[in-house]
Amino acid sequence: MFTCSACQATYASTTPRWRCECGHYLRHTTTGIFPKTDLNRRRPSLWRYFEAFGISNPDNIVSLGEGYTPLIPDQLFGQDVSLKMDQLSPTGSFKDRGSTVMLSKLKEWGLQRLVEDSSGNAGASVAAYASRAGIKADVYIPAFTSAGKAAQIALYGANLIKVPGTREDTAQAALAAAETEFYASHNWSPYFLNGLKSLAYELAEQLNWETPDWIVAPLGGGSLILGLYAGWRELVEAGYVAKLPRLAAVQAANCAPVYQAWLQGLDEVPAVQKQATAAEGIAIAQPVKGKDIMQALRATAGIVCTVTDEEIWDTLPQLSRRGVYVEPTAAAAPAAIRQLTANGTIVPGDKVVVELTGVGLKATDKIVEHYDCFS
Ligand SMILES: *Cc1c(COP(=O)(O)O)cnc(C)c1O
Ligand SMILES: [Zn+2]
Repeated sequence: MFTCSACQATYASTTPRWRCECGHYLRHTTTGIFPKTDLNRRRPSLWRYFEAFGISNPDNIVSLGEGYTPLIPDQLFGQDVSLKMDQLSPTGSFKDRGSTVMLSKLKEWGLQRLVEDSSGNAGASVAAYASRAGIKADVYIPAFTSAGKAAQIALYGANLIKVPGTREDTAQAALAAAETEFYASHNWSPYFLNGLKSLAYELAEQLNWETPDWIVAPLGGGSLILGLYAGWRELVEAGYVAKLPRLAAVQAANCAPVYQAWLQGLDEVPAVQKQATAAEGIAIAQPVKGKDIMQALRATAGIVCTVTDEEIWDTLPQLSRRGVYVEPTAAAAPAAIRQLTANGTIVPGDKVVVELTGVGLKATDKIVEHYDCFS
């Protein structure tokens, strides 16, 4: 069942729907969780948590073997951390966790076409899974999107539409197209968010059902933070883990609406005027699900912080020299470890997970342009 986040209207989830009649976003209530004791017998993919995603028939699963990415020990700025290697997902970003579930539902609903808009990674991910599901996809991206992501979207077989102007102009163009086609937006879809819960389940399983003190993750539209919160809450309710981790959400200093709302103690997230940033994947002036993001951060005794582009570009080579190659957006969370340890938010001995969201190969053009040292 879907429940509106604003007017509390409810809808059956048996027919396609992406928002409430009143225009606000929907929440999806799933009824089950996977049986913990059965996991050893299941395959190493996020579909081992099938019961938690709201898909009725396993025959509808659209999969590229996503999930179950490695969790490796490392050090960042002198702090012991575990790196969650979601940059190794099938299309090169964690967005595959959401797309596999969203496209499985679209297939279950019998949809033939969809519209999506993205700063790049969600578009690439949705394009790949849509093709695999036999669903035609129109993907809108800003004209400034990294060449690697645009190429991926087109090669996966989606109809690529480059929109001049800002990320918000791109969203507007997609919304207009959504008047006639189904809007399979990763920022709106309750099923995309269901898929992100797998990150919580997987981390819990990999950490032997011990909750870490902190999970540090970048924050743009908020599916990562909301998925972690929703998934971990279910784990607590099922008695699979003892407590919630604290969530540290990292925004780009040049586009930090959630940080601003946090400083002002607000319950909703007003739009901000944003500046250019290397972190294209989190440059969202106003997340759709602002209200739920603020609630998740408070409920986990979490925090929001920002990193500058300079900090991002300083951290990227540090990770690379450890063999970990991520795109600039994905260096934001690791970059934040410096301030979080310096100001005593994270203390030595804390168990810290850092989510790595996208692979460096996607942003080769931006990386070459920035360091300008390879000729
Ligand atoms: C989408 C994206 C993010 C932000 O995730 P949200 O769920 O929108 O908050 C972070 N990093 C990368 C590489 C992304 O593609
Ligand atoms: Zn409503």
